[in-house]
Amino acid sequence: MEYDIKWYRFNPLFVPLTTGVFATIFYFVFKFTPVYNPIKISVYTILILFSSFYWIKEAFEDLVEKKEIGTGILVIAAVIGSIALGLWSEAVFLSVLYGTAEGIEDYTYARTRRSIRSLLKLVPKEARVILNGKEKVIPAKDLKIGEIFIVKPGETVPTDGIIIKGSAHIDESSVTGEFNPVFKDSGDTVFAGTTNTDGLISVRVTSLFQDNTVSKIIELVEKAQEAKSKTQLFIEKFGRIYSPIVLITALVLMIIPHLFGVPHSLWDTRAISFLVAAAPCALIMSTPVTIAAGIGKAGKHGVLVKGGTYLEALGHVKTVLVDKTGTLTLGKMSLVEIIPIKVNKDFLLSVVYSIEKFSNHPIAKALVKEIKPLKHQKFSVSHFKEISGFGVEAEIGGNLFYIGKPENSKDNEAFKEHTNSSFEDGKIIVIVRRDSYVIGILALSDAIRPEARITVEELRSRNIYVAMLTGDNKNSAYRIAAKLGIKDVRANLKPEDKLKIVEEFKHKAGTVAMVGDGINDAPALATADVGIAMGAIGSDVAIEAADVAFMSDNFKNIVFVLDLGEKARQINKQNIVLAITVLAILIPLTLAGLINIPSAVIFHELSELTAVINGVRAGIGT
Ligand code: ADP
Ligand code: MG
Repeated sequence: MEYDIKWYRFNPLFVPLTTGVFATIFYFVFKFTPVYNPIKISVYTILILFSSFYWIKEAFEDLVEKKEIGTGILVIAAVIGSIALGLWSEAVFLSVLYGTAEGIEDYTYARTRRSIRSLLKLVPKEARVILNGKEKVIPAKDLKIGEIFIVKPGETVPTDGIIIKGSAHIDESSVTGEFNPVFKDSGDTVFAGTTNTDGLISVRVTSLFQDNTVSKIIELVEKAQEAKSKTQLFIEKFGRIYSPIVLITALVLMIIPHLFGVPHSLWDTRAISFLVAAAPCALIMSTPVTIAAGIGKAGKHGVLVKGGTYLEALGHVKTVLVDKTGTLTLGKMSLVEIIPIKVNKDFLLSVVYSIEKFSNHPIAKALVKEIKPLKHQKFSVSHFKEISGFGVEAEIGGNLFYIGKPENSKDNEAFKEHTNSSFEDGKIIVIVRRDSYVIGILALSDAIRPEARITVEELRSRNIYVAMLTGDNKNSAYRIAAKLGIKDVRANLKPEDKLKIVEEFKHKAGTVAMVGDGINDAPALATADVGIAMGAIGSDVAIEAADVAFMSDNFKNIVFVLDLGEKARQINKQNIVLAITVLAILIPLTLAGLINIPSAVIFHELSELTAVINGVRAGIGT
C-alpha cells in the first residue's frame, strides 16, 4: 500500500490512536456512571467500526483476492466472538490495539521504504542553462537532452550529462558513497546530485531530470525492498496453512466442551484469547521491515541490493570469489612495451586504437587512452566482435585482426621469438594478429587497488574464504595474489571456466559471492548465489547483470555489504525466535485459562511491535 507519510494524513495510524483515546474515556465513563445499555453498545459499535476501518478492509482484501485467511480474519473472529459473549470493552480494545499495531507497522514500513528518497533532496531543482550564449536559470525538470548547462564550484549537478568544457573534482558521495572527489574532464560523465568542488564545467544533458541516475537508483531500491525474501515467502506459506488451523481449533474449543456440558462461557473466552494469542502477526512481520531497512541503508551508501533474497544470502556467504582485472586492480593499465613484428609501430598502434575503441574492457580502455596522444591513424573498422575472456576481433581493409591474449602455439612462438625472459614478469600480454600472423606484442601493467589488501584481510578475519579467478596469464595473476595474500588463484580462465568454478564452490563451500565488473563476468555473476558488480554507476548493463551493485568501485564495499547481510540475518533470527517463543508461551496459557483476553491482546501486540522496531535496526548505524 502507498501511504502519504505525513502523520496527520496517515490515517491507518491516526484513526486507531484517536479511537483508542475515546475508547479509554468511554470505558471509564461507563464504569463509574450507570448508562443505559443500548447507548453503551452503540458507542462501542461506533468505536469498533472506526478503529477497524483500515485493517478490516485489508483482511477482507486478503480473503477475497488471495483467498487467504490472514491474521486480520483471526482478529475479526475474535472481535465478533467477544461481542457475542457480551464482552464489549474487550472487543473495542482488541480492535483498537490491533489497528494501532498494524498502523505503526505500516507507517514504519512506509517510512523505511521512503528513506531512500532523501537522495532526491540532494538534486537541485534549478539549472543554469546556456541559451544563445547567455546564462539563464530554469527549472531542472525542463532541461532537454542536448542542452548545455554550467555548474559552478560548490554547486550540485542537476541532471546526468557529459562534460564538454572545463574540468573539476566532483564529490560523488551522494550516489556512490565514496568520499574522495573524482577528477572529471571533457568527455567524462557527471551525475545528478553530485557536487562540483572546484572548477567550472559546461555539461551537455544526456538524460532528462526524471530519468537521471539518482531517480533510477531510488526506483530500483524501492522495487528491491518489496521483493520478498525466501524466509518471508516461507513464513507466508506457513501462515496460509497455520491460520485456518487456528480458526478451526478456536471453533472446536467452543463447540466440544459444550457437548460435554461444560459451562459455555469458560471455554468461549479461552477460545477467543487463543485466537488472539495464536495469530502469527509477529512471525509475519519478522522479516519485511528488516529487509526494507537494510536495503534502504545500502542504497544510501551507494550499494544496490536487488531484493531481500540477496540481503539474506549475503548474511550466509562463506566464500568470496574475486575477479582480478578492474576488481582487485585499478584496471587503469599503462602500456609499458610495444613490439611491432614486420610492421611499423605507427600501423600497429593505429590498428589497436581503431579496434579497441569499440570495446568496454578495461584493457581496451587503457590501450585507447595510452595510444590517443601518440601519432596514429584512424582506420575504418567493420565486423567488430568481442570474444569474452580472450579479446576482440574486427576487419580493416579486408584483413581480419585479433587483439587479445595469446591463445595458440603460433602466438606463443612469436612471443618467445620476440621477447626476452624477463618480459612476461607480471605483465598483461596482448597479441595483435593480422589474419594468422602475429604483427605485434603489447605489454601492460596494472596497479593493485589501495584498499584491496586490507579488504582481503578483513574478509579473512570474518572467516570468509577468498579466491581469485582471472582470465589473465598465470604470472600476472600469481604476482598480484601474492601481494594481497590470496592463496587460491585460478588463472587463464575462459568465462565458462569461471562459471564452472563458481558452481564447484557452491557445491562444497556453501553460499558463494562473486565480485566482478559486471560486464565480461556476467555468466559467473549470474551463477553465484550473490553476483556483485563493482563500479556500476552509469552502467545499466552492470546493474542489470548483478544481484548487488556497488555504484563506486571501492572494493571495501564487500565488507560493508557482508556485515549488513549478517546484521539482517541476526535480526531476522531474533525476530523469528521471539515470535515463536511468544506463541509457545501464550497459546498454552490461554488454553489453560491463565490469561484473559486483554492480556493476550497486549502481549501479542507487544511482540509484534518489538519485531518491527528490531527490524528498523537493520537500517541504523554505519
Ligand atoms: P579478468 O578475469 O582478469 O577480468 P577477462 O576474462 O576480462 O579477464 O579477460 C581475460 C584476458 O583476455 C585478459 O587478461 C586479456 O589478456 C584478454 N582480453 C580480454 N578483452 C580484451 C580486449 N578488449 N583487448 C585485449 N585483450 C583482451
Ligand atoms: Mg574482468
